[in-house]
Amino acid sequence: MITNKLYINGEWMDALSKETFPSINPSTGEIIAVVPKAGGAETKLAIDAAYNASKEWAKTTVFKRSELLHKIKNLILENSESLTRLLTMEQGKPLYEAEMEVNGSAKIFELYAEEAKRINGETLPNVDSKKRNFVNKVPIGVVAAITPWNFPLHILCRKISAALAAGCPVLVKPASDTPLIALALAKLFEEAGFPKGVANFIVGDTKQIGNEIFNSPKVAGVSFTGSTAVGKKIIEACASTVKHVSMELGGHAPIIVYDDADIDLAVEGTLINKLRNSGQTCVCANRIYVHKNVVEEYTTKLAEKMNKKTQGNGLDNTDLGSLVNEEAISKIETHVKDALDKGATLVTGGSRNKEMQTGYYYLPTILQDIHEEMELMKDETFGPVAPIIEFDDDEKIIERVNNTPNGLAAYFYTNNLKKVYEVSEQLEFGVVGVNDTTPVVDHGPFGGVKQSGIGREGGKEGIEEFLDSKAVSIRLEK
Ligand code: NAP
Repeated sequence: MITNKLYINGEWMDALSKETFPSINPSTGEIIAVVPKAGGAETKLAIDAAYNASKEWAKTTVFKRSELLHKIKNLILENSESLTRLLTMEQGKPLYEAEMEVNGSAKIFELYAEEAKRINGETLPNVDSKKRNFVNKVPIGVVAAITPWNFPLHILCRKISAALAAGCPVLVKPASDTPLIALALAKLFEEAGFPKGVANFIVGDTKQIGNEIFNSPKVAGVSFTGSTAVGKKIIEACASTVKHVSMELGGHAPIIVYDDADIDLAVEGTLINKLRNSGQTCVCANRIYVHKNVVEEYTTKLAEKMNKKTQGNGLDNTDLGSLVNEEAISKIETHVKDALDKGATLVTGGSRNKEMQTGYYYLPTILQDIHEEMELMKDETFGPVAPIIEFDDDEKIIERVNNTPNGLAAYFYTNNLKKVYEVSEQLEFGVVGVNDTTPVVDHGPFGGVKQSGIGREGGKEGIEEFLDSKAVSIRLEK
């Protein structure tokens, strides 16, 4: 599945400058392949290709679009084993997680292949018997999808399946750490027989590619997933051409464990949530608030289970794989050191995994005696670090949990029905899990409030991001 060319207007090409950059396996440090380093000129070609394809693609019936999207789903499944291995090699996550991501990516194409058929307009009641009013749903135009490295296939597929279903041609710019899995997907688009220019894939110089996209009047929308800092810059850059922006940005998720919770369930949920992708997910718990009556039991059980997790090259199907790069592991080290310097107590972990000769492995870590002034309470650690904050006031805890500019996901554990309703209502987050740390489903909306994002992906809401409502009034007689 390794492809090392750009895919523009249905053709494979090198960068015009012939420059390249490597895709590196984080587990071994080996170069998997070199890929072309596109700049502004190639981006312009891709934008023009998408723009030229836009009228025909918008006119293509939803049934035809659906058929093509189903083909991608089938091709992903047919190539699932190779895609899974490539994803693990390029990103570092263990095979079982990569396999889930690949299969989930196929499912999202299926979802939007079907959702395409439900792009319904509306007939409005008459205000004048001589006139008729309608609302037509129309594609917004060319969409640029800019995606991160942590779920480099699924996030990409969630965006482009919805955009293509809506009738928008796409231009894909994956993260520089994970270009190969995106280019492998481009190959499937060629195989499926999509019309030229409907799906374009470029990798390379991030700033040049971004500038060309943000300043082009031919690009109607930017669908971005990444950090809040970059998201803000993109919103600003898109202002000059007033683009539709969909933003899936950073999280700072809390878990609250009340003293009436099922502690074993809370421990299991924390492990799944905290250690998925070695903690490199936007919905990973970054702050764990545990009631003082159960904190000892919870911490002991969590540490016991965490210490049993295996860590190593994802291809060996360990529980945890390598982090994505040196920058990622350095950030974790900085956060842990800062917390320890400011009075935190180390329960387990607390350093790189010294048994590993290559790769970026940080031991699953638990910290206690955490307070708000520590860096890890203000910023995503993006690693396998569980900071535990003891609390004893059920009323005040909500205020503390909501006291963040982010609002992506939050979780809490309780067996009290009143709390289930009240706390879900009070949490200022886009996704809430009650006794559940895996609440996200593709057929439902996903996204954040406050500085965690604008718009939603998944579900019927996801396709709306790429549709405009056109109001049509028809006078039938004088
Ligand atoms: P990032 O640094 O913001 O990068 C995301 C994407 O934006 C990459 O493709 C990156 O390209 C590109 N980019 C960076 N600067 C750009 C610019 N000036 N113009 C155009 N594109 C630019 O984020 P990341 O480190 O890859 O991902 C981690 C962050 O994403 C975390 O904050 C996490 O919470 C967030 N995230 C959010 C969600 C969600 O659904 N809300 C999901 C996953 C991750 P390069 O790779 O070339 O720099």
